[in-house]
Amino acid sequence: MTMTRLRSLAYDVVTRRDGLAGWKPHRRRFRTLSRSGPREIERHALDALRRLLVHAYATAPYYRETWKAAGFVPSLTTTVEDLRRLPLVTKRELRERKMDFVSERFDPAALRLDYTGGTTGVQTAFYRDTGCSVARFGRQWGVLERCGYRPGDKRALIWGAHADLRPPDATGRLKQRFRQFGCAEAVACCTVMRREEMLDYHRRLQAFRPSVLYGYPNAIEQFARFIDREGLARVRVARVICTAETLRPSQRALFQERFGGEVFNLYCSREHGCVGFECERHDGFHVDAGSVLVEILRSGRAAHPGESGEIVTTDLLNYGMPLIRYATGDLAMPSSSPCGCGCALPTFSALHGRVADTLYRADGTPVAGLMLTDLFWEQPSITDAQFVQSDIASLDVHVVLQPGAPATIREDIVNEVRSIMGTQIAIRVRVVADIPRNPTSGKYQEVVCAVPAQTLAALASEGIL
Ligand SMILES: [Zn+2]
Repeated sequence: MTMTRLRSLAYDVVTRRDGLAGWKPHRRRFRTLSRSGPREIERHALDALRRLLVHAYATAPYYRETWKAAGFVPSLTTTVEDLRRLPLVTKRELRERKMDFVSERFDPAALRLDYTGGTTGVQTAFYRDTGCSVARFGRQWGVLERCGYRPGDKRALIWGAHADLRPPDATGRLKQRFRQFGCAEAVACCTVMRREEMLDYHRRLQAFRPSVLYGYPNAIEQFARFIDREGLARVRVARVICTAETLRPSQRALFQERFGGEVFNLYCSREHGCVGFECERHDGFHVDAGSVLVEILRSGRAAHPGESGEIVTTDLLNYGMPLIRYATGDLAMPSSSPCGCGCALPTFSALHGRVADTLYRADGTPVAGLMLTDLFWEQPSITDAQFVQSDIASLDVHVVLQPGAPATIREDIVNEVRSIMGTQIAIRVRVVADIPRNPTSGKYQEVVCAVPAQTLAALASEGIL
């Protein structure tokens, strides 16, 4: 028996312990759908949508109320065009009326709290029913398989402070080692990337010899540049899989060159998990139409090919807390023609997702900007936040507050930010009426690094970066 097969068996045990037993049939379903023709895919997706809409209307107070007001009653003949009459669900509504989204058919205590696709360090209160978690997990393995990554393949992960990365407690060490073996992972936490930690990670990878490098593009770039700067041995992999942040063309080229692997980009949302994935043609994203419906909207109508619009997702699997027409805030363009790879799953192109620069602690240690973007998710009085760093010793936090925010809000913000940026940095909280958006894209950049390039170069030459 090969080590890969052994690890794959251990992985089965680990996923059973995680309550995800039964995920493999969902991978098969994904495989089947991805090989189906366009008509069959469309029919499958429409059936799933109708079932979900009927369920949501009957059992989730938020939908019952808002759809009644819009004069909409879903049925088994509803079409995707009918959806256009329905209001979008925004992040704010989800935060303020969370429990109204939960289906009355489910006991909230039996629903799983999800950690938003693993891209954030903040535990966001977000619910999924168990069936949805298992199905999503299985289908995501189907997607990863398309990118050449299967259970048992060794993966080097450059990730945030996710619940998965908890250090083992003394009693759980053996279980933890088994998990590490089954998951075949070498993990580096990219929240704060110190020199010693990166050196240690590089050393571990030399022994571990991963076949997949997986993580945030900005953190992978930091690691690639670190290897160059320190003159360390190359890390070679077969695949580099990027997620959570926008992957720039220059980063794709850099990763291909430095790690030797084919670079795949995934588009994952906090609420849904994997929404879009690249095929071997790397020309836009395919959508798993069996798990999510993607609309690309411009002023309320479907955007035309070549026109950019907001990505709005409907989760077809989550019956515990249906999320229908959720405005992601990310932008994309519909594709003008089917993908040349032969897979008929729908596609979209030119994603302009979250843009989060790397920031720096006062001692120069890089911090993944993405770790800050979800910091205030559980703070109902903060509507929007933007982090701007112009020099290494300080950070400006611009916030839009709800009326009636608590008197301690500034102090709370400073404490939250310090938990990630360290205690040495000066934090200036500025309450603003609005955060200016990019006039062309309509998005605002949540994390902006405006530290002069000379300062960064000087830090690098001192060996701090
Ligand atoms: Zn394709």
